[in-house]
Amino acid sequence: MKVMAVNAGSSSLKYKLFEMPEEKVLCAGNADRIGHEDAIFKISHDGKKEEKVLPIMDHATGVRLIIDALMEKGIVKDLSEIEVVSHRVVQGGKYFSHSVVFDEDTAKKIDSLTPLDPLHAPAHLIGYRAFRKELPDALETAVFDTAYHQSMEEEDYLFPIPLELSKMYDIRRYGAHGTSHHYLVDKAIKDYFGGKALGVRIISCHIGSGASLTAARDGKCVATSMGLTPLGGVMMGTRTGDLDPSVMDYLADCLQKSCSEIYDIFNRKSGLLGVSGISNDTRDIEAAALKGDERAILSAKLFARRIADYVGQYYVRLGGADMIVLSAGIGENSPYFRKLILEDIQEALGLDIDYGLNETVFGGKQALLSKEGSKIKVAVIPTDEELMIARDGYLIKTGGLR
Ligand code: ADP
Repeated sequence: MKVMAVNAGSSSLKYKLFEMPEEKVLCAGNADRIGHEDAIFKISHDGKKEEKVLPIMDHATGVRLIIDALMEKGIVKDLSEIEVVSHRVVQGGKYFSHSVVFDEDTAKKIDSLTPLDPLHAPAHLIGYRAFRKELPDALETAVFDTAYHQSMEEEDYLFPIPLELSKMYDIRRYGAHGTSHHYLVDKAIKDYFGGKALGVRIISCHIGSGASLTAARDGKCVATSMGLTPLGGVMMGTRTGDLDPSVMDYLADCLQKSCSEIYDIFNRKSGLLGVSGISNDTRDIEAAALKGDERAILSAKLFARRIADYVGQYYVRLGGADMIVLSAGIGENSPYFRKLILEDIQEALGLDIDYGLNETVFGGKQALLSKEGSKIKVAVIPTDEELMIARDGYLIKTGGLR
């Protein structure tokens, strides 16, 4: 059975076609700069990559292009072979604790969550409708970035504001990157704990341009660092992460700016970019730090320290830890940043790390960085959100997930 995993953004449409249950990738690509005359369409399959620049004025045209390419290249002989289209949805709010069939009722709920995610929710709905039109017989499913975090307890997800406000406006820690954390925790349990989740305590670190940590016990999330929106938690590429909330008011006063203008600074101009004054990309920060740039060095240390703080918090929250997983753009590719983080936590947690091995792990490699005697295992595991999205779509179709 062919299952299409889709990630629809406001001006992009990423896709990956899987043969399930073999989990074989048949092709992948994306339509980028949708809405422009010079949009980009990419497809890679059989080790070949193709790229075209052409007008893609809306998502429906993007979907059409994907489908035409699949047919032209013989990846799909008949469109009925694509039995499931499984969509990534960023915000599932209070409604979704697992993946579901994407129908009009699901669409209505996602639409009602737009205030919590004004950037992505409309794009997800457009993606859903565009595929519905082109592949009316396929089952569409929705996989939520927040769903994995719905198992948290109130003490972990509530903010200490007046309770009636939390209840009235559904204010809570929803978290993000749940699909990735879920994949990483499952993969860690399978590869390092003989597939037995019971009793296993994992601190999973998804560190990319957006970053979040999750504490999991028995394979389930008990705490996560991102908050109501992806602004909370650890420091990120351009986002502050957690902050004394009074900085907002004070800065608004100092700069004579509105809250929303300050909010924009917190979201887009802070983090590695704001502290270093150089870039939000760790590759640029590392290069500048190695040349002795003081702000670059400070930004890198701050970044690592905020992650170390959360690891410590989750170590306590879990009553210990069996494994720390590092993943996503930075976690998978940056020995420099991994070392900064691990050096910050190794003494307290009794880690024994093979730093020589650390230098050789990047570009999609999985590796156990901790040595035999380490009190906690430390692994780099490349994440695969698309596979998780396809898996859930397949499970819903075959009745394995209800
Ligand atoms: P997101 O999915 O949130 O956009 P990623 O997980 O792809 O982010 O992470 C992207 C970030 O990872 C980059 O901004 C950069 O800081 C960092 N990075 C470090 N090394 C690499 C690399 N070799 N390839 C890609 N990203 C890298």
